[in-house]
Amino acid sequence: MSVLAPSHPLGAPAGRLRVAILGCTGSIGTQALDVCRQHADRLEVVALTAHARTAELVAAAREFGVARVGVTDPAHAHDAALADLPEHTTCLIGPDAAVELACAEDVDCVLVAIVGAAGLAASAAVLETDKRLALANKESLVVGGDLLMPRVRPGQLIPVDSEHAAIFQCYQGESAAQAHAIWLTCSGGPFFGRTREELSRVTPAEALAHPTWNMGAKITIDSATLMNKGLERIEAMHLFGVDMEFIRIVIQRQSKIHSMVEYDDGSVIAHLGASDMRIPIQYAFSYPDRWSTPAPRVDFRTLGSLDFAAPDAETFRCLALAEQAGRTRGTLPCVMNAANEVAVSAFLAGACSFTDIDAIVERCMDAHTVEPVQSLEQLADVDAWARRTAEHMLAAR
Ligand code: NDP
Ligand code: MG
Repeated sequence: MSVLAPSHPLGAPAGRLRVAILGCTGSIGTQALDVCRQHADRLEVVALTAHARTAELVAAAREFGVARVGVTDPAHAHDAALADLPEHTTCLIGPDAAVELACAEDVDCVLVAIVGAAGLAASAAVLETDKRLALANKESLVVGGDLLMPRVRPGQLIPVDSEHAAIFQCYQGESAAQAHAIWLTCSGGPFFGRTREELSRVTPAEALAHPTWNMGAKITIDSATLMNKGLERIEAMHLFGVDMEFIRIVIQRQSKIHSMVEYDDGSVIAHLGASDMRIPIQYAFSYPDRWSTPAPRVDFRTLGSLDFAAPDAETFRCLALAEQAGRTRGTLPCVMNAANEVAVSAFLAGACSFTDIDAIVERCMDAHTVEPVQSLEQLADVDAWARRTAEHMLAAR
């Protein structure tokens, strides 16, 4: 099963596409709102969620005249900001709000822009409907790809992660059976070329300064450890129905080549463009059409060089751990992801070093007895176990 079955997209009404944005206050969410602003004649925002930033949620609900919003963190149920919601707007509270809003009848397309494994339930719920799933939340597939992919209907899932959007486009009009390899590009992050010893001393502020992309804190740290690329390799494995070995990571420092597909005859089709997430977000809404964009364009006359390098999985251990998780499959990627979420939060809070992140993830993976993936409930239990285990390890240091 892959997303490549040729077909028209699901959720393509005659009028405006009615969009729900889950995680509208984050980096992807706010850029998605910008796309909706630019294409108000084609896109109608009908539902929004946020976890904690209720003032931003209310501002977006007012601007777009949204009928329903959700606040997924109940601790923010009584935020004063919510009093300023438009009178006609309904507000749901709690983690189930995202699922409920996503499945509402008047929604054609759901953008899951929640961060972390918390996005899995909503992604799974959308796949029970005939709505389009514009998927930014890579953790959904890393953790639950074995459950989600068999449920995807032709034309239902359009990847938003820039590399996967690129690969999806490099496959358009081609026979997937004649593909030889996927080249998954990676910027290398802010610490490209550093030694392990140097990495052990980097600060959260240094790790948050990504050279080419402006993203939420968790994915920015994942991009510095290269766990992001490990997660993306597993994401690509599920999306395109291939083995881990089929997907080769290559460092492309300028982030101008967003990924490539190599075919049996040696031809390589690459996707290039500006490093601007509004382009893949918009494509998930416009597919198979292409709309104009306010994103900057690449002028190849002034771009200079495109550099390539092999990744260093010995220094950036997360790459090796993700390879192990992706080859083993079952519940191991769920454990890796949950332990990583805990370790990244600890690093950002100053509670552990940068190299402790992969150490904690590795120890949690080693402590886990892998099972085949059976249900969302099982994955929730495994996720909770991995978080507890990672927290104990951090506390015992
Ligand atoms: P951000 O941290 O910027 O935003 C996360 C969003 O999710 C916010 O709206 C936040 O609400 C909400 N949220 C946080 N925790 C929860 C929770 N437990 N339950 C429900 N909602 C929650 O993240 P990004 O936008 O950077 O990333 C979102 C997803 O997209 C990630 O999976 C990431 O890997 C993926 N992605 C991101 C890219 C990027 O350029 N940023 C590129 C490719 C993929 P609040 O703000 O109220 O706390
Ligand atoms: Mg990406």
